[in-house]
Amino acid sequence: MKLFFCLTVCFFTLHANAQNYKAVHEQAVVVDTHNDILSTAIEKKLKIDENLIGKTHSDVARFKKGGIDVQVFSIFCDETFGKGTAFKFANREIDSLYTIVARNPGSMMIVSTPAELAQALEQKKLACMIGVEGGHMIEDRLDYLDSLFKRGARYLTLTWNNSTGWATSAKDESAAQKEAKPLPHTGLNDFGKTVVKKMNDLGMMVDLSHVGVQTFWDAIQATTKPVILSHSSVYKLCPVPRNVTDEQIKAVAKNGGVIQVNFYSGFLDSNYLNRRKALFAKHQAEMDSLKKQGKGEYEIDDWIAHKYRKDMEKIRPPFSSIIDHIDYIVKLVGVDYVGIGADMDGVESLPQGINGIQDFPKITRALLAKGYSVEDINKIMGGNFIRVFKANSN
Ligand SMILES: [Zn+2]
Repeated sequence: MKLFFCLTVCFFTLHANAQNYKAVHEQAVVVDTHNDILSTAIEKKLKIDENLIGKTHSDVARFKKGGIDVQVFSIFCDETFGKGTAFKFANREIDSLYTIVARNPGSMMIVSTPAELAQALEQKKLACMIGVEGGHMIEDRLDYLDSLFKRGARYLTLTWNNSTGWATSAKDESAAQKEAKPLPHTGLNDFGKTVVKKMNDLGMMVDLSHVGVQTFWDAIQATTKPVILSHSSVYKLCPVPRNVTDEQIKAVAKNGGVIQVNFYSGFLDSNYLNRRKALFAKHQAEMDSLKKQGKGEYEIDDWIAHKYRKDMEKIRPPFSSIIDHIDYIVKLVGVDYVGIGADMDGVESLPQGINGIQDFPKITRALLAKGYSVEDINKIMGGNFIRVFKANSN
């Protein structure tokens, strides 16, 4: 009898928790600040309003399934684009988002102001925001920055992996240090500071993901508004140049900004990187031949990861690695400076249990299980980013 009683109570407790996390996730304004599906869709000639399960991490139906309320779509081209091509390509990608939203007026809406964001939430439409991933897309021209803002871009990542003439990237700064080869300049130069100032004036968030350490400190100094890191994780837990150190996390908190945790396996767990290195080494000849065909670095990695999907499956880190990174930032600086920028469709590997944007409710479930309050979960899942968006808007 006692056992029966215990089993019944346990069952109801478990059931209540299961119900609870769904309700908590549903009431939260869930924001993801980095998704590369537009680039993937253009490259692979896919329509994101069709069912893309098995092909991508996201599609329109799965945004809904994942309880996503606000999605920042990344506008991206790699280092093979530059003067005369990068800005044009960025506009082509923005066009593609406008086209998708126009095809789905009942479920999607382009959002560029906090008032529009509120409207989208009220109408239960996916609020589609635009972020430009890489300063090379403004081609050293402030009028291009202005034009991207007018088209709805609300953040610019000062660099992608490639440095611009005015800002150095994490990749280049760390390579220069390792090889003891100084760069022509390091950090933000005067024009870079002008770009930051112009962004502050326009109401465009300064995104410091991907930038080098010196660029980070120069930008934190130059900005008068809170910054974001749209998709970066914690260096202490996974020491790669793309992640942020404790000092940087503290500086972002002091600035009132937010760090949106990236779900890429290689930014969460360094064991993954070692195993990946061994796997990719087996296919070096194939990678070299793709490079000779003129493919960019990101495209080559993506190609290999897709071709050897079964091997990639075996090296995924545990789901808990995501929660560890969120929890680390909370413990270091408090709950007000962390969010999610999952990098779906921009990465070749995600932790176990996260197979696409539909799996976002699992984050809420894990945070609840770790003892986070609903109020804290609301901040992490989107509230913190919305605070920064509002602080940047004019
Ligand atoms: Zn990125």
